Amino acid sequence: MPAHKRILLKLSGEALMGDDAYGINRSTIVRIVREIQEVTQLGTEVAVVIGGGNIFRGVAGGSVGMDRATADYMGMLATVMNALALADTMRQEGMTARVMSAISIDQVVEPYVRPKALQYLEEGKVVIFGAGTGNPFFTTDTAAALRGAEIGAEVMLKATKVDGVYTADPKKDPTATRYHRLTFDEAITRNLQVLDATAFALCRDQKLPIRVFSIFKPGALKSVVMGHDEGTLVHV
Ligand code: UDP
Repeated sequence: MPAHKRILLKLSGEALMGDDAYGINRSTIVRIVREIQEVTQLGTEVAVVIGGGNIFRGVAGGSVGMDRATADYMGMLATVMNALALADTMRQEGMTARVMSAISIDQVVEPYVRPKALQYLEEGKVVIFGAGTGNPFFTTDTAAALRGAEIGAEVMLKATKVDGVYTADPKKDPTATRYHRLTFDEAITRNLQVLDATAFALCRDQKLPIRVFSIFKPGALKSVVMGHDEGTLVHV
């Protein structure tokens, strides 16, 4: 039996890159989709918020000197591209997915309408939220917190390169250890960056637990959904 009925999975754009320098790596996206499929087969409803950093990040790179809001809209459009790629890969793998965008691009994807998203989830379809929150100056982590709270997800699963929250950066400090559980307050007192401040505050206010785990560890997503002690759980 899965431990969760409904989850919100936050995938960064970088998760789709694999070992490439940018863009979408074919075998990586297929692997991630298959991991999501395994979870849906357990009967868990899955919503995904996808980032865009593999294609465009509003505050860096090609956006130097650009108007921040314009660059951020470009970043949001990048997330829609990733959402389309993810949904199409799901289709190829025999799954049913729906992309909903926070910015209206009606010829391409349907707009985000909360009751419709809830209906799709109840029907067992994977819902992929594109275009972040639809607002500049925010991140897709904040979109994940927002949508997670809106759809009543039991947990927000933050898929990263590292398998949890550590006492220090494990790449720099070999003595760093992983936290199994943390409260929101402990994360603040110990100055641990779990999500950006806005996203973190939203999860804390809405009492939406966050589990940080590695998407590069095969089987980790299923293990999380089965309720195993994978990664780090940040809770109230
Ligand atoms: N973005 C935004 N508002 C949002 C979500 C995203 O303006 O609600 C823009 C922002 O420029 C950001 C980019 O989209 O840099 C890509 O999102 P993010 O950096 O969160 O992607 P990730 O790091 O998860 O790949």
